[in-house]
Amino acid sequence: MSSNRYKILVVEDEANICNLLETMLVTNNYQVLIGRTCSEGILLMHSYVPDLVILDLGLPDKDGLEFIKSVRQTNTTPILVVSARSNEHDKVLALDLGADDYITKPFGNAELLARVRAALRNRRFSDAEGSAGGKFYLHDMEIDYAKRTVSIAGIEVKLTRTEYNILEMLSYHQGKVLTYASIMRKIWGPADDGGIKKLQVNMANIRKKIGSTPGDNKYIINELGIGYRIGEETN
Ligand code: CA
Repeated sequence: MSSNRYKILVVEDEANICNLLETMLVTNNYQVLIGRTCSEGILLMHSYVPDLVILDLGLPDKDGLEFIKSVRQTNTTPILVVSARSNEHDKVLALDLGADDYITKPFGNAELLARVRAALRNRRFSDAEGSAGGKFYLHDMEIDYAKRTVSIAGIEVKLTRTEYNILEMLSYHQGKVLTYASIMRKIWGPADDGGIKKLQVNMANIRKKIGSTPGDNKYIINELGIGYRIGEETN
């Protein structure tokens, strides 16, 4: 039934990009809602509870960053930012405010659809925290989401619950940098003030346990000053 399809809210003022996105998404069996301004987007957000938001940063009434701020006060729906801006500052700002990913115009269909799928996988993380099942493989590392276990070359690695949650979160966003703040917010919640040190200690323990030496980027890449990213297979 159509009620089972993912509902995607597109907040974008440029008609040609709206049309492009709508056609692409509907063809791929998603339901689409369109908001032309920041205010309209926020209204639709609250009325229709979409599964994902595709957000333009340059909106006629307010900056798209304002949309992220407003929505994130009450809501964890994944937000995929689509913008012509390519500067790093806006990217980190949008991610730190709670956007889940970032794609720069002009983008290809395949690239956008891959980001949409990745963002919806991330939603699964916030909803069910790994109970959705399935497995993740990278080199000789295997994550079993149903059992919540991690193994390297077939040997199970004993992680704490927090360490596992961090690694699982990174794996759900494979290839994408997650800012320190976004990891801390998802793992410890928005009210936690433990600071970045807690994350660094957990990350050091994870890397030690999976046999990763400093500077070794086989599994986890430390993007200095920005965040962490789990690697991708290079075939
Ligand atoms: Ca725009």
